Amino acid sequence: MKTSVVGYPRVGALRELKFATEKYFKGDLSKEELQATASKLKETHWKAQDKNKIDFISSNDFSFYDNLLDTAVLLNAVPKCYKQLQLDPLDEYFAMARGYQGKNGDVKALAMKKWFNTNYHYMVPEIEDDTKISLVGTKPFEEYLHAYNLGIATKPVLIGAFTLLKLSRFTGKKTAQDFVSDIIQGYLDIIKKFTELGVQWIQFDEPALVLDLTEEDIVLFAKIYSGILSNRGSIKVLLQTYFGDIRNCYQEAVALPFDGIGLDFVEGKKTLELLENFGFPEDKTLFAGLVNGKNIWRNNYTKTLSLMVELRKYCKNIVLNTSCSLLHVPYTLGNENSLAEEYKRHFAFAEEKLEELSELRRIIASDNPATTAEFIKNKRLFNGLRNCKNLAVRAKVAALAQDDFVRHPAFAERERIQKTELDLPILPTTTIGSFPQTAEVKLNRSNYKNGKISFEQYTEINKSKIAECVSLQEKIGLDVLVHGEFERNDMVEYFGENLDGYIFTERAWVQSYGTRCVKPPVIWGDISRAKPITVDYSVYAKSLTSKHMKGMLTGPATILNWSFPREDISLKECAFQIALAIRAEVLELEANGIKVIQIDEAALREKLPLRKSDWRSEYLDWAIPAFRLVHSGVKPKTQIHTHMCYSEFSDIIKEIDDMDADVITFEASRSDLTIIDTLKESGFKTAVGPGVYDIHSPRIPSVSEIKEALFKMLGEIKKEKLWVNPDCGLKTRGNAETIPSLENMVAATREVRRSL
Ligand code: GLN
Ligand code: ZN
Repeated sequence: MKTSVVGYPRVGALRELKFATEKYFKGDLSKEELQATASKLKETHWKAQDKNKIDFISSNDFSFYDNLLDTAVLLNAVPKCYKQLQLDPLDEYFAMARGYQGKNGDVKALAMKKWFNTNYHYMVPEIEDDTKISLVGTKPFEEYLHAYNLGIATKPVLIGAFTLLKLSRFTGKKTAQDFVSDIIQGYLDIIKKFTELGVQWIQFDEPALVLDLTEEDIVLFAKIYSGILSNRGSIKVLLQTYFGDIRNCYQEAVALPFDGIGLDFVEGKKTLELLENFGFPEDKTLFAGLVNGKNIWRNNYTKTLSLMVELRKYCKNIVLNTSCSLLHVPYTLGNENSLAEEYKRHFAFAEEKLEELSELRRIIASDNPATTAEFIKNKRLFNGLRNCKNLAVRAKVAALAQDDFVRHPAFAERERIQKTELDLPILPTTTIGSFPQTAEVKLNRSNYKNGKISFEQYTEINKSKIAECVSLQEKIGLDVLVHGEFERNDMVEYFGENLDGYIFTERAWVQSYGTRCVKPPVIWGDISRAKPITVDYSVYAKSLTSKHMKGMLTGPATILNWSFPREDISLKECAFQIALAIRAEVLELEANGIKVIQIDEAALREKLPLRKSDWRSEYLDWAIPAFRLVHSGVKPKTQIHTHMCYSEFSDIIKEIDDMDADVITFEASRSDLTIIDTLKESGFKTAVGPGVYDIHSPRIPSVSEIKEALFKMLGEIKKEKLWVNPDCGLKTRGNAETIPSLENMVAATREVRRSL
């Protein structure tokens, strides 16, 4: 049995790529030095796979920012506004990823979106009517040769043409159809080049095939690959799918002359059924995604082997594969020095998953798999007890009744009460919560973590930061203030650290976008709140100002979605446990005089099942009630805000309104404000703060630009329902751009207020 890896993390075990790239952005590192760091990382990653005797090791899974952006750039899908900057290729690439403001011009970044149901984000390629799709880049070839020269013959990986076209934005009149023949030619040119280099297998990633496909999509998919495959020559092509099953196009996919098909048996609910119903062609190889590329629990070998027995009924040629790229799990357990062995033995990060692949290969190859030491050890692990139950929490969840999920009185009545209670100006200005995490702020946290300063010293410094932040906001003239979140490394990890049932890693970073990585905490057992979490800092911040201070919490769906979840209880049960814990915090903030409380659901949408038919039953039916459970106990005069990091919720707009928050802020600046029409059409009751500028880019928005956005919003949203805010938290930004941006935001709001 051979083994394969869909893709490997690229940021480095210690986030080397992140730090090098950020230095490069600041001008503290040369292009050559950045390239050297990248080279070293690629080598390390190939060698780690080679050491574990992985047969199909990927190349071109490396990226300086995002693989979809790489593919677009490789095929010349670069909008004119970036070409006009006349930058060298790497800087042009970064301009697309992060925007550019400098001596060559001023251009916004491409839009960024969540990559399917993960917390990774891709850049949305833009294809203009006069874009000429054709092979112009060399990155995949260079990477292949690089590995080859180390003695490692890789399988190059590219995002496939179908997914590329499905995820791109067509800015003119043309549609995907108009680019099909050019794109086929582009991929054929890639194949030709790889064939010349002696490549055996090439992998095209087509995750878009696991979505609900229309007839038209299926025709497009078949057309693209008939075109590519009929002229591909001798190279072997692997169609790699992941994040679900390909029920809408399975028959078409197996009928096309692919040499291998990669299917996901972890998230693909119907994958096995597809094989049972339609078989699998003898002349193709099944790349069976059995090792979970997204979660960090060890593979259950008993289950994997019995699935393998099933698969053998349908397929002759099977390669053992990861379910998706390992990009979505942390790099190695090897750097986790504080985590007790009792926990660690249950986990496998990317490196350990390589070991799992090679263990499974050896077990399967043995005459009597069940008697191998590796198999027995694994079986013991799964049969043993984990200490993770909290009976009191289980009982509380079991006792929840209908009314626990309903806030009284109804929205309109609360709106009236809050108007008097809060006495805010029209178009109130606020921010989403965090302020720039300066070097000083991060140092304070790390000093405390490393035991260099006491809890008292740590808290003092945080308080002084809060005081600075409050006075800055007063000076800028914001209406509803925040404390700045200096004590938080991450909006989910912070809560995890303060809830029982969580465990923590030190270096288990996962890339979120570009140079941003997150360190999801791990849900080990039943969740409960041991003590107040945010109350002290919020109350302190409030004591410094006569303005309203927003309490700042993270909601249950987001805490759950940005953690590594358990696999032994349902997500619903876990979400309700978290909701009860956060509910206690909400009530304590309220009892301490905090009148505005924001409960972020930044990640609510991202775990929406990829197929519409699963939306309610598998997700919304518990995620929305969980949010309601968090705030249903507050008084009518307490204003509940929520925040979401995206604006594509047209299709769940009713559910978002049903969360029954009083105000929702969300991202809108990167996505041409179309959501606003939808809000109006749907009769959205919740007050809204569509972000007036993009915080993911260092660009400073001008007053006139913000005014324009506000007037556009006022065209569709009643002035009584509109809030003014940036589109997300400011923690990733510096003060240099944050302060002028907020000043411009307040100035623009004042001008607009005067004109109303
Ligand atoms: N309150 C959080 C912050 O401002 C929200 C972050 C987010 O939406 N991702 O940082
Ligand atoms: Zn956000």
